[in-house]
Amino acid sequence: MAIRTVNKCSFCGRTDKEVKLMITGINAYICDECVQRASEICQEALETSSKQKFGLNLKSIPKPREIKDFLDQYVIGQDEAKRYLSVAVYNHYKRLLQKADDDEVEIEKSNIIMVGATGTGKTLLARTIAKFLSVPFTIVDATVLTEAGYVGEDIESILTRLLQVADYDVKAAEKGIVFIDEIDKIARKGDNPSITRDVSGEGVQQGLLKLLEGSIVNVPPQGGRKHPEQRMIPVNTKNILFICGGAFDGIERKIAQRLNTHVVGYHSVENTAKIDKDNMMQYIAPQDLKAFGLIPEIIGRMPILTYLNPLDRTALRSILTEPKNSIVKQYIKLFAMDGVKLDFKEDVLEYVVDKAIEFKLGARGLRSIVEAIMMDVMYDLPSTKKKTFTVTMEYAKSQLEKANISRLQNI
Ligand code: ADP
Repeated sequence: MAIRTVNKCSFCGRTDKEVKLMITGINAYICDECVQRASEICQEALETSSKQKFGLNLKSIPKPREIKDFLDQYVIGQDEAKRYLSVAVYNHYKRLLQKADDDEVEIEKSNIIMVGATGTGKTLLARTIAKFLSVPFTIVDATVLTEAGYVGEDIESILTRLLQVADYDVKAAEKGIVFIDEIDKIARKGDNPSITRDVSGEGVQQGLLKLLEGSIVNVPPQGGRKHPEQRMIPVNTKNILFICGGAFDGIERKIAQRLNTHVVGYHSVENTAKIDKDNMMQYIAPQDLKAFGLIPEIIGRMPILTYLNPLDRTALRSILTEPKNSIVKQYIKLFAMDGVKLDFKEDVLEYVVDKAIEFKLGARGLRSIVEAIMMDVMYDLPSTKKKTFTVTMEYAKSQLEKANISRLQNI
């Protein structure tokens, strides 16, 4: 007679006759009820840990001025954008703290759109604010998004990233902030939808609209493309704050056109004279975004519109040395780790700024120029016994000429 072995759950001790299902491990068994219980314990533990990580109360939330002071340590200038962002983040926190049954007034979210030439600090602002936040935050790039059915990522994958930062805690992710970079890349190419229907651009905008206005969205946990067998995580976007940024190349022309057509009549000469033609961005209005190719519904869902200024000479010079992790401070630290005291002569810094302007490289170019100047010394110095190094004008010039600066122009 064959002896039938009785399997016992290693957790509760019940036999397989007493339970619906017994799962076999290498040296143990677990019954369906214990699996269920263990899953609940996991859920609770994870929720508590994320509550601690993303905990909020009105006293502890940073005031707009504190947020701006923090941004000032890392980002030069751009006061207007910083103020708008600080207030938006503060209000976002307040909205999260409002109780559903308080009264009839419900604070709605105000998504933001930041417009400014490339390399003026949009992503830097977003990254810096992320350091400060106690809600999940992620940066996504709109260029990879496409309408369902096309090559690229589904719109919902924006939320996958947020879920990942929130350790898949859906409740925490639903209070998060998403920065969508390069939003201008999904603009419709023509102003008139009936003549030049740009399928991908407009389709993506329609998809994005669903996220911006607040709805339950099925998110693929691993991102990328959705496929039918995949398990989806429903995420409510009602309380997710969206901050969008874009360079909107050429939008100055649309702004100028609008200003010109508006300033006809009696005061026209006087008004046109007042316009600061070097910085048209400051006059940006929602209708310019429409003229650029964003659909009105999307514009309506981003009620806060702010701009970044082009960086002038003084701003570029400050960027080199003033931010908490400025380029110069980073090199000094690199050298200090080898026990070398590094020093830049003042005229070298002016020279770097001049070159960045001359080659139209902007703030992004400052780093490449300093890198080109420092390459040789970074290679040689660690093998010598030198304890100090001063970057002089003569040295900087010769190194930069050697480095063939025209190569840098392609960045
Ligand atoms: P954008 O997103 O507007 O294209 P980034 O924020 O990526 O530009 O800026 C590129 C780099 O230039 C940043 O990493 C930073 O080093 C520098 N930079 C740009 N603007 C500023 C600024 N206002 N203050 C300090 N650094 C800046």
